[in-house]
Amino acid sequence: MQPFIYSAHPARVIFGSGTLARLPAEVERLGLERVLVLSTPQQEAEAGALAGRIGTRAAGVFAGATMHTPVGVTEAAMRHVAAERIDGLVAVGGGSTTGLAKAIALRTDLPQIVAPTTYAGSEMTPILGETQGGVKTTQKSPRVLPEVVIYDVDLTLSLPPHLSAVSGMNAIAHAVEALYAQDRNPIIAMMAAEGIRALARALPRIVETPHDAEARSDALYGAWLCGTCLGAVGMALHHKLCHTLGGAFDLPHAETHTAVLPHATAYNAPAAPEAMGAIAEALGAAEAAPGLYDLAARLGAPLALRDLGMPESGIEAAADSAMKNPYWNPRPLDRTALRDLIARAYAGEPPR
Ligand code: NAD
Repeated sequence: MQPFIYSAHPARVIFGSGTLARLPAEVERLGLERVLVLSTPQQEAEAGALAGRIGTRAAGVFAGATMHTPVGVTEAAMRHVAAERIDGLVAVGGGSTTGLAKAIALRTDLPQIVAPTTYAGSEMTPILGETQGGVKTTQKSPRVLPEVVIYDVDLTLSLPPHLSAVSGMNAIAHAVEALYAQDRNPIIAMMAAEGIRALARALPRIVETPHDAEARSDALYGAWLCGTCLGAVGMALHHKLCHTLGGAFDLPHAETHTAVLPHATAYNAPAAPEAMGAIAEALGAAEAAPGLYDLAARLGAPLALRDLGMPESGIEAAADSAMKNPYWNPRPLDRTALRDLIARAYAGEPPR
C-alpha cells in the first residue's frame, strides 16, 4: 500500500466543440461588467472576435502577451486594468496568454476565464512563472488559478501541426513526471495515464490531418488531464532541466520539453519501474523512454537541443546548473550521468 494525500483544486471546466458560445453566459455568471480580453499579438484577431461576442461587458483587448511572462508586459496590462476599471479577465491563447492573465490575477485577484488554444496546460495550475531582468522565478498561489476554463476544440484547429506536436509532447511531460512524483497518488496516476494515452493516439493523426476533429478533441482532453497533473503534484528532473536550459540559452519552451523528455525519462527509469510500466502501456510501446523518443520522431518534432539553438559549450554549464537547487527526483542526481543525458539530448541521440 502506498499512503497518499490528494488535494483537488477548484475547477469549472467546459469542454466541447463550439463551447466558446457559452462565454457571455460565463461572464454574466461571474457578475463581470468590464472584462479585458488578453492575447498574443499573433492572436489579436481572435481576441477582438471574443470581445465582440461578450458585447457591452467587454472593456477592451490587450494583445501584448509574450513568452515567459515578462513583468514589464504585466505592468503595461495593469495600467490598462486600472484606467479601464477592469473587473475580470478573459484569456484566449496558449501558456503565454494564460501566464499574463495569472500575473494580473496575482496582483489584483480579478476572476479569470481562460480559453486555451495549445496543449500547455497552464490553465489548470496554480503556478506562475515570471521573468524580470532575464531571471525567471516561479511561484504557486491559489489566486492565479483560473475560475473558469472553456476548452473549445475549434480553437485548436488552427494550431499548426509542428506546434501541435511539441505542445502535445510538453503536455505528456507533465503526466510522465506526475507518475513518479514524490507526492503522487492514484487519482492523478489515472489522469496521467489517460492523458498520455489520449495524446499519443491523437498527435500522429493531427500531424497528418490537422483538421481531424476527433483527434483534436482527444488531444485537448489529454492536455486538460496532463495540465491537472502538473497543477496537482511536484515535478522532477525533467522540468528542472527544461527550466535551466530554456532560461540559460533562451530555447523555445515546448520544443525543449520534446527534446529532453525521452532522456530525463531514461535517467529515472531504474528508480521508477511502476511509472515506466504505466507510461509504456499508455504509449502502446515496449518501453517508456524509447517509446517517447519514437513518438517525437514520428511527429517530426525536434529531437536535438542543438537544432533549437543550444551551443555545444553549454553542456557542461547546464550540468552544473541542473545540480544546483535540484527538485526532488526519484533517482539521485549524478553529475556525470546528467552530463551524458544533456549531451545525448543536445545531439538528438536515442535515450539510454
Ligand atoms: P504560447 O502561448 O507562447 O504560443 C506559441 C505561439 O503559438 C504564440 O505565437 C501563439 O499566439 C500561437 N498560438 C497559440 N495557439 C494557437 C492556435 N490555436 N493557432 C495558431 N497559433 C496559435 O506557447 P505555449 O507553449 O502554449 O506556452 C508556453 C508558455 O507557457 C511558457 O512561457 C511556459 O513557461 C508557460 N507555461 C506555464 C505553465 C504553468 O503552469 N504556469 C504550464 C505550461 C506552460
